[in-house]
Amino acid sequence: MKKLALTVLCLIFSALSAQGLNSKTEVDVQSSHNIQKQSIHQSVQLETDRIFNKLVNIRRNFHENPELAGGEKQTQEKIKQYLLDLGLEVRTDVYGYGVVGILKGDKKGKKIAWRSDMDALLNDNSDPEAFKSKIKGVQHGCGHDLHMAIGLGIAEVLAKNKKSLKGTVYFIFQPEEETFKGAIGMLNNGLLSKINPDEIYGLHVTAIPAGQIMVKPNEMFAYQKKIRVQLKNELSEEETKGLTKKISNFLFRIHPGTKPWEIQSIVDPKIGLTNPDTIFKDYLFTDGKFTAYSKNNEFFLETYLYETNSSDLDKIIPGVQKIIKDSGYQNQLLSVSFVQGNPTVINDEKLTKSATEILQNIYGKNTIAIDYGQVPFFNDDFSYFQQKIPGVYFFLGGSNFEKGMIAMNHSSDFQVDEESIRTGIRSFASLIIERLNRN
Ligand SMILES: [Zn+2]
Ligand SMILES: [Zn+2]
Repeated sequence: MKKLALTVLCLIFSALSAQGLNSKTEVDVQSSHNIQKQSIHQSVQLETDRIFNKLVNIRRNFHENPELAGGEKQTQEKIKQYLLDLGLEVRTDVYGYGVVGILKGDKKGKKIAWRSDMDALLNDNSDPEAFKSKIKGVQHGCGHDLHMAIGLGIAEVLAKNKKSLKGTVYFIFQPEEETFKGAIGMLNNGLLSKINPDEIYGLHVTAIPAGQIMVKPNEMFAYQKKIRVQLKNELSEEETKGLTKKISNFLFRIHPGTKPWEIQSIVDPKIGLTNPDTIFKDYLFTDGKFTAYSKNNEFFLETYLYETNSSDLDKIIPGVQKIIKDSGYQNQLLSVSFVQGNPTVINDEKLTKSATEILQNIYGKNTIAIDYGQVPFFNDDFSYFQQKIPGVYFFLGGSNFEKGMIAMNHSSDFQVDEESIRTGIRSFASLIIERLNRN
């Protein structure tokens, strides 16, 4: 999950009520006519439990040996070997240190891709884990170590069920997510001429409680844009202050009294993502600070903004142009533009609905929570796959509030309850089996 220019997070999770954050899941024995015989999902669970400790150790090995975007060499080797040992066809010739594992079921059917990202982050926070990073300044502070363990676990569970598997499953291990280069790199290098998935799924560990999964149709994140104002001559410090204040005021729409930039509130049952009245919907705000600089005798002002509503994006540039003109800088103005516009994660509505029903039917209503908001500051280049293939991106809970483990990505005390590996493997192995059985 790529994170943009984010102010220092002050985590106040201890103040959050533990109520409503129950992470218990139980198998829903009530069978549904939509779901294949429960027995296959019982076997998925048994198999997940059997391999769980092994996958935890693999995650810890990734955690101890993190590699930055573009340098995932050993990580690639480990993944490749694991998939080969499972009997999968493996390709490493797509892009960078990416790996694609191909599992063909014994029965004919459609094709589903599962994506895991591989890279770690540049940081040197004090890691509370015993299995801390051995590489100075580099850490798995976003949870991609867990994503890889879960991807390998799903591959193993499905490989064990190969005989009853109706179709093909592709396991895409994607490098360079944090730099937003890996997904587009794989696609531009002909990934889809080598594999042709009908659907794609992936997940990201996040701060909701371990045991839970959260999803919504359409946008999972706010649209992130970097806006740039280009002027002919440098403004004085005071002029810059005055103008950027006006622009910031224009780029500001929140529900009164709320603070959607306080990212830790996403897990608050009263105002967080799972509440239909969440503060994380229908907002627009900027980082508050503009970067001002001169280059080639021109003057530039830049800031990041976060907008939830796609239909309002088109109003931003004309609005900022008007403010600059109304402020008396009409003759100074050269351009206003978005200079960074990565696509955002947009979940396919039909597949999201189907996936939610499938997971609730097999693992109980509490396993999956409906997300009503859009997270600011973050985004994921999984969005590039979704531009080509209908897909769903899930949040997987990683926090354990009682144990003081808060899975807030990129924060200094990021820590994940490894039970989330179990939830991830069994839930998404079951989901893939069920989706393969549907047309
Ligand atoms: Zn991430
Ligand atoms: Zn990240």
